Amino acid sequence: MADLKTAEAKDWIKSLIEESQKAKEFSYCPYSQLRVGSALLTEDEKIFTGCNIENACFYLGLCAERTAINKAVSDGYTKFKAIAVSSDLEEQVIPPCGACRQVIREFGDIPVFMTRMDGSYTRMTVEELLPLSWNAEYLKKNE
Ligand SMILES: [Zn+2]
Repeated sequence: MADLKTAEAKDWIKSLIEESQKAKEFSYCPYSQLRVGSALLTEDEKIFTGCNIENACFYLGLCAERTAINKAVSDGYTKFKAIAVSSDLEEQVIPPCGACRQVIREFGDIPVFMTRMDGSYTRMTVEELLPLSWNAEYLKKNE
């Protein structure tokens, strides 16, 4: 995992959070009215953003984190350094839902920056958010 205490890390963390806040602008949330944005940083420092996309058939909606991940993977990126999530909640951070935790886990145990409106955040790893998570190791046959 990247060293998050360097000056360089502080710069990309700030950028990642800003991009996740900007991504909220495109949120399609006519039912919940809760705008959510996400920004995903690839190992080679490219940022993919996503917003939540709701649907009248509720279960077809997609979270901001999975939108960002789907955009990145469909463009050929599968190695990630971190992900940030933003919303319009003022007092509390926005955590990824259980489904998103599992999808983020598919691509490794990266830091997740869960932010408030003012840009402050709580950082946790996917392993902390989803302990004993299901992953590809369970699908390997015994040798
Ligand atoms: Zn989600």
